[in-house]
Amino acid sequence: MIPLLDLNAQYEQIGADLEAAVLRVLRSGRYILGEEVAEFERNFASYCGVRHGIAVNTGTSAIHLSLVAAGIGRGDEVITTPFTFVATVAAILYAGARPVLVDIDPVTMTLDPALVEAAISPATKAIIPVHLYGQMADMDPLLMLADRHGLVVIEDACQSHGAEYKGRRAGSLGLSGCFSFYPGKNLGACGEGGILVTNNEALATAARCLRDWGQQERYHHVAKGFNYRMDAIQGAVLGVKLTHLEDWTERRRSHAGAYDRLLGGNPTMQLPTALSDRRHVYHVYAVRSRERDALQASLASAGVQTGLHYPIPVHLQRAYADLGYRRGDFPEAETAARQVLSLPMYPELTPAQIETVAAAVARDIHVH
Ligand SMILES: *Cc1c(COP(=O)(O)O)cnc(C)c1O
Repeated sequence: MIPLLDLNAQYEQIGADLEAAVLRVLRSGRYILGEEVAEFERNFASYCGVRHGIAVNTGTSAIHLSLVAAGIGRGDEVITTPFTFVATVAAILYAGARPVLVDIDPVTMTLDPALVEAAISPATKAIIPVHLYGQMADMDPLLMLADRHGLVVIEDACQSHGAEYKGRRAGSLGLSGCFSFYPGKNLGACGEGGILVTNNEALATAARCLRDWGQQERYHHVAKGFNYRMDAIQGAVLGVKLTHLEDWTERRRSHAGAYDRLLGGNPTMQLPTALSDRRHVYHVYAVRSRERDALQASLASAGVQTGLHYPIPVHLQRAYADLGYRRGDFPEAETAARQVLSLPMYPELTPAQIETVAAAVARDIHVH
């Protein structure tokens, strides 16, 4: 079977270094935050081209903290996309604000800047573009709109470590950038993890305080904070993995190039669009097909595991029905949810595996 994702392949490559890092933490007696985490914060912020990094326990917490630290909460509206993992919308609700959804651009499947302005109301405080699948949203028009209306931009970069927009790294364009280190992400912990990066000193100070119960000094709570601390084992593991991230990213990009060549020219299937002003880091390689479910079944029978990112847009999820949206409200997101299919993508994928996937796709297309 060719899996969608193979974390064991990565462990085989760097297992010895990871084990040494974990042992170092076990023997240190310091298990939460500490120097391992502080060093990773510095290195990851510098990787993003940003001054401050505040490591947290999940990507969701990074988004929630960004909102709270920016003073956004009850009575405020935050604009984002329905075509994302539910965490983006959940984090807005955690902050007490109201998510206002705006449809995607069908080509990049990220927030459509042309539709954002009409959704801005006097209560709007922030825009959260999601850099979906590893390609950044169209940031210039979003930043311009935000500037004109006095809004904050928070980047959900949970799928886009190292992605670029006109030469600038994901996380460095908005007030803050939020990353997840869930194991399957392009940079993954051996457990949960996340980080908020920012150039804004005040935001960094507020977020640092809020992630550790709002303490300025021990047991002196100046704000109602959270337990969003990163543990030292994750900091040490991520420190090791960060040194490989560029190599892994270039491999992903080269695998995507191979898929593009092998799958190209097929009228019934749309390949991912990598725009020339961006660096796509292919967290996900998603094709689009009108016969998506049949294609997925036929790939499964050929031993190729695939994924759906995501089969139901947030506004049609039962848990979020109380946002008040209905089927038909975001036609591009709804169509994308019916058509996208994620093919196996991870750095250790071999040329032979890519050819097997492409051959299975070609056989399916022949039959249908
Ligand atoms: C993974 C992900 C998150 C949440 O990250 P966690 O670390 O799982 O909390 C948020 N947004 C997007 C787009 C994601 O892919």
